[in-house]
Amino acid sequence: MPHSPCEVLQQKAAPGHYDRDVPDCLFCAIAAGDIPATIVLDGKRTLAFRDISPRAPTHVLVIPRDHYPDVAALAEAGGGLLDELVGQAHQVAVAEGIDGSGYRVVFNTGREGGQTVAHAHAHVLGGRSMTWPPG
Ligand code: AMP
Ligand code: ZN
Repeated sequence: MPHSPCEVLQQKAAPGHYDRDVPDCLFCAIAAGDIPATIVLDGKRTLAFRDISPRAPTHVLVIPRDHYPDVAALAEAGGGLLDELVGQAHQVAVAEGIDGSGYRVVFNTGREGGQTVAHAHAHVLGGRSMTWPPG
């Protein structure tokens, strides 16, 4: 199966170093404002917007503005960026009024983890009781 341009670019980058703005990456385009999204919280280094296909009454995605292919790369980047992203996930829950009732933060990672967009993102899900284990 041919790689997407996004994956090809990532393979060329040195380990731990990623392009900040990857052509043909959907979430880079949303971060740049080139593709519209319903923004929930707008941070300096992170951005929260509503998932286009919500799986719960609250379903918000939190992304780093810069491109990292998955949460492992984001963790490797350091600089407190992953902390900031998880902090913004909590701020989303507060803004949506679900911090008290509870919510779920999910990083789908890789093919069997169900990741379909190769730009790191946290799903913030809530507003209903979550089941366990997930499907
Ligand atoms: P994942 O499958 O974990 O990689 O999550 C990707 C998520 O992006 C899915 O839940 C999609 O519904 C969501 N998504 C895809 N396109 C858009 C878009 N244009 N705006 C907002 N969310 C999107
Ligand atoms: Zn990207």
